[in-house]
Order: sequence, then structure tokens, then C-alpha cells
Amino acid sequence: SSERKGKSRTPSYLTFDDIGGQDRAKNELKEALDFLIRHEEIRKFGIRPLKGILLTGPPGTGKTLMAKAAAHYTNSVFVSASGSEFVEMYVGVGASRVRDLFKEAKTRAAKENKESAIIFIDEIDVIGGKRDGGQHREYDQTLNQLLTEMDGLHSNETPRILMIAATNRKEMLDSALLRPGRFDRHIQVDLPDKKGRMHILNIHSKNKPIAEGASMERVAGETFGFSGAQLESVMNEAAIYAMRDDLPVIEQHHFSRAIDKVMMGEKTDREATM
Ligand code: ATP
Repeated sequence: SSERKGKSRTPSYLTFDDIGGQDRAKNELKEALDFLIRHEEIRKFGIRPLKGILLTGPPGTGKTLMAKAAAHYTNSVFVSASGSEFVEMYVGVGASRVRDLFKEAKTRAAKENKESAIIFIDEIDVIGGKRDGGQHREYDQTLNQLLTEMDGLHSNETPRILMIAATNRKEMLDSALLRPGRFDRHIQVDLPDKKGRMHILNIHSKNKPIAEGASMERVAGETFGFSGAQLESVMNEAAIYAMRDDLPVIEQHHFSRAIDKVMMGEKTDREATM
């Protein structure tokens, strides 16, 4: 899988095995995705098709990775946008951007010969925040367009479209978004426990030379409360320290320094660090 991933931070082709920890969330998500896959049975039983899944949880825990893995798992095209892309736009542009997203999903599915599409919207709270009677009219139009598009989805159309949205502020969302037939399936993506952290560290150490004496279990033990994104930074920073020391492998003390650095919340812009 390391060749597939190349250098990109969030590769476009990704499986659930590339996501560390999150066993419960992964299982819940796969269970929900079976609704997309087993659409004929769903229809036979008269079950309301699933249109929207909401991933909630702190930043950097792998919500975007989950959405990408979902696309691979269901053999769907993956189209994505971030809620923040819809702001600072003229009135009406946000709504037309929503229409474009759905169009793009359809066009790409047709072109790539896929029967389903997943549209992922990160930071959904930016456009889907509680409507407060007129203060944010331009966002209202965007949100209304999204709701209209979702209400118009039918399981007997090709491609079948599933929406996945992510937020770390679920309590901020307008209740209209959470109604049955919209984002009515919620999956919590939590910070990883120690076992999860080990798993994530192992995933991100695959392409790195690590000293034999270095213990990932120790690193996992010292990173309580770290997100997957922070653990990825620890790995990267440790590698930079080892390289600066002109050593062929990453040693335990490099990890300790990297943990301190990430814990201090220093910006880890790797280009700048290099
Ligand atoms: P945000 O809410 O900030 O958008 P997110 O939950 O969508 O965050 P991702 O974008 O999926 O987080 O993760 C950011 C990066 O952190 C990933 O590209 C990956 O390198 C790393 N990462 C996060 N969680 C995991 C995980 N569970 N397993 C492996 N890597 C992870």
C-alpha cells in the first residue's frame, strides 16, 4: 500500500486498512455502506435508503480518510469539498457550487463507469450551522440547495449518491440537516486509545528506517490524547531529527523530542522545517 500512497498526505486511493485504530467507527461505517452496496435488497424490503452519514469527532482523527476508504469500499467515485470553500462568495454562488458538486459526481461516475458516488463535505458546520433568522442569508441558500439536492436523491437512479459529511461541532448543526432522509446516521470518530495509537504509528512508520531498539509501544504510551494527524507529525518530525543528526535510523530520543515538539503545538510545516 505504500506505493499507492506515494507522498501525498491524503491519498485519493485508500482502504480501511490504511486507517489506524477506529475499529468501532470503521465497523459502523462499513455496516452503513452495505446499504449502498445492497441497494436491491434495501428496495425489496422497502427500507428507506441511506442518503447521508455524519462523521463527528475532533480534528485530525481520520474522518477524511474514512470517507475516502468508503469510496474504495463501495467502488464509488469520490467527490469532495470543504464547507469553508462555500464562504466568501457572492450570494448564490455557494448554492451553484453545491449543484456543481452533484453534477460532478454524476459526470465522473458516468465517465468512470461507476454505479455510485460519494460526495464528501468536510467542515459541514460552516454551511450547515443553525439558521438564526436572516443573519447568514448567503449560507442559507447554500444549505437549502444542499437539502434540495439530498431530497432529490433516489436509489433507483444511477449513480446512487451517498453524502458523507464531517464536523467537529455537531451541536452547531441546523436540525434540518439531521432529519430522517438527510444526515441521519451518525458515527463518532474519537481520539485513538493506546492500541489505536500503536496501529497509527505503525502505518506511518512503514516507509521509515527505525532503530531496532526503538519502541513504538513507548511512543504510543507517551502520546495520550494525540490525534492521528499529530501522530503522523511525530513520525515525520522524528525522521527529520534523525536526518539532522546524520543517523541512518530514527532512535527513541528522536521520538521523545518529536513528541515534545508536537505537544508544544508548534506548527509542523514540513517544508519550512526542512
Ligand atoms: P479534520 O477534522 O481536521 O479535517 P480529519 O478527521 O478529517 O481532520 P484526516 O484529514 O482524515 O483527519 O487526517 C489527517 C491526517 O492525519 C491523515 O492524512 C493521516 O496522515 C493522519 N491520520 C489521522 N487519523 C489517522 C488514522 N486513524 N490512521 C492513520 N492516519 C491518520
